[in-house]
Amino acid sequence: MTDNCLLITETYLPLAYLNAWEYCPRRFYLEYVLGEFQTNEHIILGNHLHRNINEENVIQEGDTRIHQQQWVWSDRLLVSGIIDAVEERKGNLIPVEYKKGKMAKHLNDHFQLCAAALCLEERMGKSIAYGEIFYHANRRRQQVNFTPQLRQMTEDAILAARAASTGGMPPPIEQSKKCQACSLQSICLPVEVKQLMKEP
Ligand code: SF4
Repeated sequence: MTDNCLLITETYLPLAYLNAWEYCPRRFYLEYVLGEFQTNEHIILGNHLHRNINEENVIQEGDTRIHQQQWVWSDRLLVSGIIDAVEERKGNLIPVEYKKGKMAKHLNDHFQLCAAALCLEERMGKSIAYGEIFYHANRRRQQVNFTPQLRQMTEDAILAARAASTGGMPPPIEQSKKCQACSLQSICLPVEVKQLMKEP
């Protein structure tokens, strides 16, 4: 890693934490601010599925050139991170993320992909219309259009996450389904904390 990359990783918000922010602000705080980490079956499976694309590489598939594990950053938004792949098709650049779940409306994944596209646009000086997310669970690709609304929501999320990182720890969220899938549940203790918050 170059000195420039080292400086960026120390001061820029990592793209993956933007995903955590949209999933749950408390999870973001626990991971990014307090450095908590705990694995569970979802994380192990996700790492396993990334095993073939976790190194920088360039491959050609038909008329598509695939750049795997591309490091990108934005000096304007102060975010940085790695895109799983950037595909070059007919002169267009298409950022691609690989996720273990099923295709659905995962706004956290859309924010991460859109932020990656904003970084790529800044680095390459060209506009990117859409990206794609490959969901392993049902082996489907979802096209995510980088609409003005999604771009604005992503930039708002970056600002909110950055501001939250200097504040206090957010309370647990109300969505128990997310908590059940969250690897930090035993550290966060959402049920217990919510019960304590109710007590006078
Ligand atoms: S257990 Fe729930 S409230 Fe706690 S960090 Fe995870 S998702 Fe957020």
